[in-house]
Amino acid sequence: MIYKRSSALFAEAQKVIPGGVNSPVRAFKAVGGDPIFVEKAKGAYLYDVDGNKLIDYINSWGPMILGHAHKPVVDAVIEKAQKGTSFGMPTQIETEIAALAVSMVPNIDKIRFVNSGTEACMSAVRLARGYTGKDKIIKFAGCYHGHSDSFLIQAGSGAVTFGTPNSPGVTKGTAKDTLLARYNDIENVAALIAENKNEIACIIIEPVAGNMGCIPPAEGFLEALRKLCDAHNILLIFDEVMTGFRLAKGGAQELFNVAADIVTFGKVIGGGLPVGAFAARSEIMNHLAPLGPVYQAGTLSGNPLAMAAGLAMLKELNENPGIFESLAAKTEYLHKGMDAVFSETEIPYTINRVGSMISIHFSETSVTDFDTAALANNDSFKTFFHGLLEEGVYIAPSAFETWFLCESLTYDDLDATIEACRKVSKNM
Ligand code: PMP
Repeated sequence: MIYKRSSALFAEAQKVIPGGVNSPVRAFKAVGGDPIFVEKAKGAYLYDVDGNKLIDYINSWGPMILGHAHKPVVDAVIEKAQKGTSFGMPTQIETEIAALAVSMVPNIDKIRFVNSGTEACMSAVRLARGYTGKDKIIKFAGCYHGHSDSFLIQAGSGAVTFGTPNSPGVTKGTAKDTLLARYNDIENVAALIAENKNEIACIIIEPVAGNMGCIPPAEGFLEALRKLCDAHNILLIFDEVMTGFRLAKGGAQELFNVAADIVTFGKVIGGGLPVGAFAARSEIMNHLAPLGPVYQAGTLSGNPLAMAAGLAMLKELNENPGIFESLAAKTEYLHKGMDAVFSETEIPYTINRVGSMISIHFSETSVTDFDTAALANNDSFKTFFHGLLEEGVYIAPSAFETWFLCESLTYDDLDATIEACRKVSKNM
């Protein structure tokens, strides 16, 4: 495929934007080469500025669960835009989407909308600290909760792809309040709690990790976290920025039947517009300003275009819950197809999958946490990534990311992807 125009645009972008991108993973640094500039997208396909058509397995890193430029979402945004794009005043649609989200997700009474997943997680932690009166938090190595200071301690996603798991600019004072645990290791969490008795406000976790590739929670792990939190007066925060409204109507809480105290959202909840949210029982949410003392705000929060896109998206998911089964079936089909391809080769690999999240690590061992994810062979991943791109299949440009499937993908697309894997595997 030819990417001449993309490369030219990237050269221009680098003159005026750091690294040529507004979010690091887009730059292809982990896989080499120049990033692809998009012209437009429809359904499961991306169309780039060089005229290439690609099957998209990123889907804007998750939001486009029903495919790109989904008509009800686009129509809702256009209709709203004609009435004004922002007021900084209350609008009815904010209550409509809040009520719908609260009805779909277990264990939440109230929800506050923000503009990104980062804001949602940052605010959730502040709320947990304000509610419990404690300072420390536990996060898991390889989990990414956005780029706010407290979370850039062995974070996943771009933070690890670029080898800066502990970013300069995060003060020692901030870092000391973030305790690091190993994903899927409950003894490790219990030991941290014992060493920091009565000091831990919350445990924040991706209930299915998606920022070190896809890593499912081990059987019983989330339940055990819930028990530890109950025993030690610690709030359990599920970061459902990826999993919310994707794994089930009620997200990972519903799928695993484990209750969180605070849940954060992003991606699907905004239908592709900049939206995040955090939610909890009233008892916790009532600590937020203006009701309570924990401050949190946003000029563009609850923006009408963003709410219109999000509402159109959630309505469709709510009215057609079969979508989640359909997505999971497509993802299982892809998994089986890729298994059939790679099991015939000598290439070591592990495929992890939950619902419509899937990833492949070229690894000798199973991948259950950050350490085992980091053992995978990145050179094999690079070859795989560029090989797929040549075949018209676009996956995340880093092994430390999950793929997200969308409902517009057809079984022909999946067969084409499996066939592309077969071709690429011959050169690996
Ligand atoms: N939490 C998780 C689990 C995420 O995957 C991400 C982003 N990929 C974030 C938080 C941060 O969201 P945003 O990029 O919208 O700030």
